[in-house]
Amino acid sequence: MNTRELFLRHVAQTSPAPLAFEIERAECATLFDRSGRSYVDLIGGISVANIGHGHPKVLDAIRAQLDKYLHVMVYGEFVETPQVHYAQRLTALLPASLNSVYFTNSGAEAVEGAMKLAKRITKRSRIVCFNGSYHGSTQGALSAIGDEYWRQAFRPLLPDVWHLNYNDPAAIDAIDETTACVLLETVQAESGILIPDAAWLKALEQKCRSTGALFILDEIQAGFGRTGKLWAFEWFDVVPDVLLLGKALGGGLPLGAFIADKCLMDQLTDAPVLGHITTFGGHPLSCAAGLAALNALIEEQWIEGVKAKEQLFRTLLIHPRIESIRSFGLWMALEFSDAETCKKVIDRCIDIRDPNEVGLMTDWFLFAPHCLRIAPPLLISEYQIQQACARILAAIDQNNP
Ligand code: PLP
Repeated sequence: MNTRELFLRHVAQTSPAPLAFEIERAECATLFDRSGRSYVDLIGGISVANIGHGHPKVLDAIRAQLDKYLHVMVYGEFVETPQVHYAQRLTALLPASLNSVYFTNSGAEAVEGAMKLAKRITKRSRIVCFNGSYHGSTQGALSAIGDEYWRQAFRPLLPDVWHLNYNDPAAIDAIDETTACVLLETVQAESGILIPDAAWLKALEQKCRSTGALFILDEIQAGFGRTGKLWAFEWFDVVPDVLLLGKALGGGLPLGAFIADKCLMDQLTDAPVLGHITTFGGHPLSCAAGLAALNALIEEQWIEGVKAKEQLFRTLLIHPRIESIRSFGLWMALEFSDAETCKKVIDRCIDIRDPNEVGLMTDWFLFAPHCLRIAPPLLISEYQIQQACARILAAIDQNNP
């Protein structure tokens, strides 16, 4: 049995049609398969590899930490330098009110922690979320995601979770003194890059402030320069009470975080004591890698190039079968007429038939299967963007003669 067959047999599957791409190694914005063929990476492990794969500074930081210690104690007990330094660096790059970092293992756990924090602080239960949002697959996060197709098989879920319409002024009126928190993505990723109206987001923030509900922004995909600023909320003149991070946070290793003011976060320390704990959250290797990745992102000025690269994609991706392009930085949804057409284009981009071809790794969006995902490492070169766009256009023509 070959490795692919063993993968299908022994590694639990999440869909009937996995990409089943046999990865050998990854470098910058390029993936290599087992036969040495190369692929421009347009998805970066789904918004994780913002500074590319195998960045030498990240690898050095991991090696240095490897020589010291791995897991030594459950989260929150020992003073672990990688956690402390990373929390200090993150909070220095955030508004003053976001000064205390709770590290988790994943994005979904950050969502769970933030929802518990909101309940603990407000003593209320209602969680307001939005249709078309993705927040993760654990039961609390699943309760919050805004698509009934994914929720319905797993009921009963969390009670008192409301799903309102994103960008809908009626949502503002629905928030009141019974609301524990309003949880939303600053930009809806899995709906195919839906950007909020700035006035609506501001009104939402203000309604949270006036009712005492916590305003929680999920930037698990949107953060770390993806939109052309370090944090997506910087585009909108709002500041969340709680910021959720994950994906690129760990520089390629698993890490999530919810970040709030210390006076809020301290409420997790008693009544009950140890009411929110994790064994591996804030793992020293993940924190060392994440800090090195964040420093590289900033020092090497990758965010500065995002808008020009977005524009280059938009200039090159003109084709009558692309119905629209929604983009926010190096984060784009190419909309086709239907999911089947989109899938054929994606499959053709990945499928290398001539060994001299350079393939293209891309994907669709969970709630927008008719849209092709473009979210490459921010260090993708102009030449690779040209290669990628040429391949997408050729794939469209090959599937639609
Ligand atoms: N929130 C958003 C916006 C996400 O895109 C994801 C994952 O795709 C999550 C939360 C959950 O993160 P994780 O898969 O690390 O649990």
